[in-house]
Amino acid sequence: MISQVVLLGVESVIVSMLLLFLYWLRPIIGFSGLYVALGSFQFMQVLLALSIYIEILPGVLVSPGSAVMFTASLYVVLLIYIEEDALGARKLIYGLALANITMSSLLILFSFHVNHPLTVNFFNLPKELFLQSPRIWIVGTIALIVDTILLILVFEMLSRFLTRQLFLRIFISITLILIVDTFLFVTGSFVERPEYGAILLSGIVGKSVMALFYSASLTFYLRFLDKPVEHEPLALNDLFDVLTYREKYKRLQEASFKDSLTGVYNRALFEKRLREELSKARDTGHTVSLIMIDVDRFKAINDTCGHPEGDRVLTELGSLLMDCCRPTDTPCRYGGEEFALILTNTSAEEAMTLGRRINKRIKDNVKVGGTAGLDMPVTVTIGIAEFPTEVDSAADLIRLSDQRLYKGKKQGRDQVVGPALE
Ligand code: GH3
Ligand code: MG
Ligand code: MG
Repeated sequence: MISQVVLLGVESVIVSMLLLFLYWLRPIIGFSGLYVALGSFQFMQVLLALSIYIEILPGVLVSPGSAVMFTASLYVVLLIYIEEDALGARKLIYGLALANITMSSLLILFSFHVNHPLTVNFFNLPKELFLQSPRIWIVGTIALIVDTILLILVFEMLSRFLTRQLFLRIFISITLILIVDTFLFVTGSFVERPEYGAILLSGIVGKSVMALFYSASLTFYLRFLDKPVEHEPLALNDLFDVLTYREKYKRLQEASFKDSLTGVYNRALFEKRLREELSKARDTGHTVSLIMIDVDRFKAINDTCGHPEGDRVLTELGSLLMDCCRPTDTPCRYGGEEFALILTNTSAEEAMTLGRRINKRIKDNVKVGGTAGLDMPVTVTIGIAEFPTEVDSAADLIRLSDQRLYKGKKQGRDQVVGPALE
């Protein structure tokens, strides 16, 4: 019994080290090694969960498929979330779910060979090995999506309380999710069977032990081998929206709020979103920053190069602003050649950094009058203000950032003015 438990432990250490090594190789082979390995784990996980169980305690059965391999999938999603971001983790979560569906469908197809009179089955593999009941794989795939999203949300929630205890954060979140998953999966698949209680208990015990090994190796890797770049955490409901593609759905709904020339949101959406963001910020205590951008001497561009050239500049500015934004930011066309950016959960200081980057990127990349051989750089002046530290209403937030913008114009244009520079 002991030797089998030790073997499970060794397997999880080897699997986690292999996965970390493949991730660490990303400057050379990209993510392909990690993702292909993880895809092949899905098959091994199913194969083992259908065939091999180890009695780690009297009456407690654990499959290496669920204890070692399934935990590995959760582990990599958390690794990607911590090292990359929510968008990277989201791609992996839905990629894994699609890989599971593809694999399960193919296994069903291959099962038709197994007992056919013309088939030679060297190892007498039973049909059941290929033919998981559709209910089990539907439950499995849904559980995988729910688990990984919950894992990230729990990890992020714990980050607010356990700021320094990385191991504890990783261990609690992985263990909690494994227990929830075992409950979901075992209940969804075996609730009417007499051994339901025993399967549930064995799953919980086995997975918690594995979580210990995985959490220790991930903590070691993050602390000593590959420190992640700190990124500003999203509010939990925004994180949920990103992980479930709700932010994409919301954006689709808002297509009618798009400005047709520049592709950014229009004034109507600006007003609506600003109100929503400020009320959310009032509830959560977060800050919202507003960036106002006005093109310098735009009339002159129109007058010397023509209106179509002015329109082209505005379109280019729209694309550039969308490119500079995070998924939770809202770039809008406020009026003629004025743009506004609503930045969720962002201080004025961070907004200043973004503002300077936008100012520089425009100057470096957007040129005007190329057809007339002029190729003059376009510049913008930017005003920034922060809610609720500086003002307490949407109208005042707009007014203050506008005042700063015009102060920048008076001081000679092509600059960023915010609270730090006053
Ligand atoms: P300043 O540096 O002080 O901002 O100078 P400016 O010339 O940009 O100032 P102003 O705000 O007076 O000029 C804005 C011009 O933008 C006037 C208007 O004709 C032009 N404009 C507004 N909307 C559009 C548009 O959709 N397309 C084009 N081509 N021009 C537009
Ligand atoms: Mg203007
Ligand atoms: Mg202008």
